[in-house]
Amino acid sequence: MPFDYDLFVIGGGSGGVRAARVAAGDHGAKVALAEEYRMGGTCVIRGCVPKKLMVFASEYGEMAKDAQAYGWDMDVRGFDWQRFHAGLAAELDRLEGAYRNTLKNAGVTTYDQRATVVDPHTVALADGTRITAKHILIAVGGRPFVPTFEGSDLAITSNEIFHMPQLPKKALIVGGGYIASEFACILNGLGVDTHQYYRGGQILRGFDEECRNHIASQMQADGVSIRCGTDIVKLVREGDAIVAHATDGSAERFDLVMYATGRVPNTDGLGLENAGVRLGQKSEITVDDYSQSSVPSIFAVGDVTDRISLTPVAIREGHAFADTVFGGQKRTADWDLVPSAVFTQPEFGTVGLSEEAAAQNGPIEVYTAAFRPMQTLFAGRQNRVLMKLVVCAGTRVVLGCHIVAPHAGEMIQLAGIAIKMGATKEDFDRTVAVHPSMSEELVTLRKPVRKT
Ligand code: NDP
Repeated sequence: MPFDYDLFVIGGGSGGVRAARVAAGDHGAKVALAEEYRMGGTCVIRGCVPKKLMVFASEYGEMAKDAQAYGWDMDVRGFDWQRFHAGLAAELDRLEGAYRNTLKNAGVTTYDQRATVVDPHTVALADGTRITAKHILIAVGGRPFVPTFEGSDLAITSNEIFHMPQLPKKALIVGGGYIASEFACILNGLGVDTHQYYRGGQILRGFDEECRNHIASQMQADGVSIRCGTDIVKLVREGDAIVAHATDGSAERFDLVMYATGRVPNTDGLGLENAGVRLGQKSEITVDDYSQSSVPSIFAVGDVTDRISLTPVAIREGHAFADTVFGGQKRTADWDLVPSAVFTQPEFGTVGLSEEAAAQNGPIEVYTAAFRPMQTLFAGRQNRVLMKLVVCAGTRVVLGCHIVAPHAGEMIQLAGIAIKMGATKEDFDRTVAVHPSMSEELVTLRKPVRKT
């Protein structure tokens, strides 16, 4: 029996759209894609893109003060959330349109409704239509996880923060990961009295410790009140305020409480059990390196597989899937040495092993430079940049590069190429510095600060 489509993709985010576009546009497959919310997914609609625009918005306050120090005669009277928000909404509309065009131009049929799995070759749309496909790709992403406790429904998540009717005066962010730390900096930069509670000893667990400490102390110096070793016992509504009762015995009033305590795969109610798709402990779809699930006709890419939850990784997974299944080129994504950035203020770019992780594998040398960068030093700011290389003492290969600095995300993309190529410390050293720049420090680090 012929199928309606060669491929049916559930989820119009980064991974799903790339897979659909490549399968149809490059490899000539007959492809359909269903998306229940807005085309573009978490990254474009309620994640990386609007977040980064909010980061930009939040940086202008300090930049305006710097401009005054540079001689500009200007007067900053405050931030207009409504005006910014209108611009943000328009930009997201534009991007959603671009995603739709990409699919249309590749010849992909789109359904603006929820789709669920009926069996290994059939999906059901919300309107009851059943569609068959030779292959089904699940690319439904993840959603914020909020633990259940008294008053937990009073907290918003990163999904809602982009739709705040107005900016709060005082906000609490709970969590110590990427999202919590980024939004603590954003709100602080926008002039909100910002508090961050984290249950562990230091925010950004898993990253290089020296960098975590550097970022946290800079955030605190910039005005974020970070309380580590503190969790919420209950949230109570009192008039317009939310009172957060914490494990340290405090009860503080906030206008807004945001939970950023991780994300979980979006597999609930997707009908995967109907088809016999195996799920892991976090309800993620377990897949092999080719993104194939336990059911041979069903594949999954992106956050729903809980591998590395980053947009560019989902895109690579979707692309490799399409090339493998429809392009006759058996390919996997590459999950090794993935560079990434945390858009805190200060920004953090990182690739490879932290000092702590590298030290577990054998002798290492650590090179660092910490300094006040020229641009903001001139304006009288106290912020410091940290550049760090973790080097294998035996092979001299640079195992990790960590940068806490303005534009660290841009810098780590380029350092990531060298490190992916297996560059040694001596390769860094024989590269001539670009002067005057911050990143020149990476090629002028002469003596190790530590050998372990
Ligand atoms: P993370 O996994 O990074 O952090 C979750 C945080 O919540 C941790 O600090 C964790 O604490 C804490 N936490 C978890 N459960 C509880 C609980 N029950 N009570 C209190 N605290 C809790 O998740 P995020 O939500 O910040 O981000 C999700 C993923 O999205 C990231 O891992 C990343 O892959 C991606 N992302 C990437 C970005 C980027 O590239 N710039 C930006 C935003 C997201 P503990 O450390 O103790 O476990």
